[in-house]
Amino acid sequence: MRAAVYYRNDDVRIEDRPRPAAGPGELLVRIIASGICGSDVMEWYRVKKAPIVLGHEVSGTVESAGEGVTAFHPGDRVVVSHHVPCMTCAFCLEGKHTLCDTLRSPC
Ligand SMILES: [Zn+2]
Ligand SMILES: [Zn+2]
Repeated sequence: MRAAVYYRNDDVRIEDRPRPAAGPGELLVRIIASGICGSDVMEWYRVKKAPIVLGHEVSGTVESAGEGVTAFHPGDRVVVSHHVPCMTCAFCLEGKHTLCDTLRSPC
């Protein structure tokens, strides 16, 4: 598959990358649109992780579902959150998922 790979703000290359597979509990999503976040254009922040494929605000269609996934099926249109909320803390229980501590924890 092709991917836009970030090296620096003035150096983004189209490269071939291995097609990922959906693991247990995961979805493989064909990206239709991706936002450009403010953090994506802060070169001092991103260049430390280069080369990297950017895009953490995306939407697309489900290509395949991993083992144990029953709520989504190939062809479903989805929006992908940039982090996985715990769904158990006080913020999550109030629907304020972006305040959950998981947003700041490394993955
Ligand atoms: Zn963002
Ligand atoms: Zn939470």
